[in-house]
This record gives sequence, structure tokens and C-alpha cells, in this order.
Amino acid sequence: MMADQKNYQVTEIGTFASFDEKGRMELGDTLGLTGCEISVNSMPAGKSSPFFHKHKLNEEIYVVISGSGVFYLDQDEVMLQEGSVVCVAPAADRALKAGNEGLKYLCIQAQQNSLTQKTMDDGVLTDTKIK
Ligand code: ZN
Repeated sequence: MMADQKNYQVTEIGTFASFDEKGRMELGDTLGLTGCEISVNSMPAGKSSPFFHKHKLNEEIYVVISGSGVFYLDQDEVMLQEGSVVCVAPAADRALKAGNEGLKYLCIQAQQNSLTQKTMDDGVLTDTKIK
């Protein structure tokens, strides 16, 4: 790591309401993510994904921020609302359709089975105190 480089990256994406106009934003390049991709998405009322898709390696975690919709997952239809969190395996054939209020969601994409430790297994306590 270079001396003037910090151990963190910050970006401001604005309010989730602003995604009515922005539509979609990927944060991976902006934040220099190395283990996952995160996108912020807004789908207008009644609109749906332009295509169904699967993945080769990556699972996707969809976190609904607001609105409602339907998640078409293989042969199933899963109703979405604020607070719905769905983990989709790479092989699932998927598409979304927004409900009457539109659908705002985060999508986190990471390689399936790539996580080898987490939280208490990976975290190390330090002596630093909050000022
Ligand atoms: Zn995908």
C-alpha cells in the first residue's frame, strides 16, 4: 500500500429517492471493492428486468430498501417488500418486476463459497479507543 493511501474509501451516493432519476449505480470501481460488487437500483413502478439471467460463479443478495415487487426465481414468484432480503444462487434463472410504488434495492454480488471466515473468526480487537 502506498503511504498516502488510506485503508478505506468513502463515496456519497445521495438519497435513495435520487435513484428515481439515477436508476442504477455500481459501487465496485468507485470503492475499489475486491471481494464483491454492490449496486444500488431503482426500478420504476410496473417495470421489469429486460431479461432473465443466471450467473456462472456469483451468488447475489438482493436487499429491498423500499417499494414492492415480484422476484421470478426459476419456477417461483416471491413477493418483495421493504426489508425483504433474498440470496440467489448462481444457477437460479431470475428477473424482477416492480410493484405500484416502484422497487429500490441493493444487489450484492460475490463468488459463491468464496467466504472462508467472517466476523468473529476474522475480526481482531485492537487497543484503540474512541475519542
Ligand atoms: Zn445478476
